[in-house]
Amino acid sequence: MSISDIKSRMINDKNLPYPGWNDIITRCNRKLSMLDPDYKILQIKEKFGTLRYYYHTDVKTFSIREAMDRYVRQAEIESSKTCEFCGKEGKLIKCKMAWMKTRCDDCAPSDAVTLESL
Ligand SMILES: [Zn+2]
Repeated sequence: MSISDIKSRMINDKNLPYPGWNDIITRCNRKLSMLDPDYKILQIKEKFGTLRYYYHTDVKTFSIREAMDRYVRQAEIESSKTCEFCGKEGKLIKCKMAWMKTRCDDCAPSDAVTLESL
């Protein structure tokens, strides 16, 4: 199970521009593909500083769909604590260049303020 498996499921944009989140995405993909081996990824992107993982499944069983949604939410929560660049522990920041990002101290721009301090 790897990045190439993830890309083969992506039906639109095959971009994974957040190297620090690749482990989170890989884990999420592994769990979802165990529940539905044929599921598809519509889009993986960042919004308000955290991961968004949009997928499609033809599985109709409610409990399975619910479990898939739960794994996606877990991945989104994990991404809010993981630097999108390097994968180290990070936090949500705000800076001049961007509205919100998840970065570690090393990858955060010098003008960044953490959201807790606002
Ligand atoms: Zn970092």
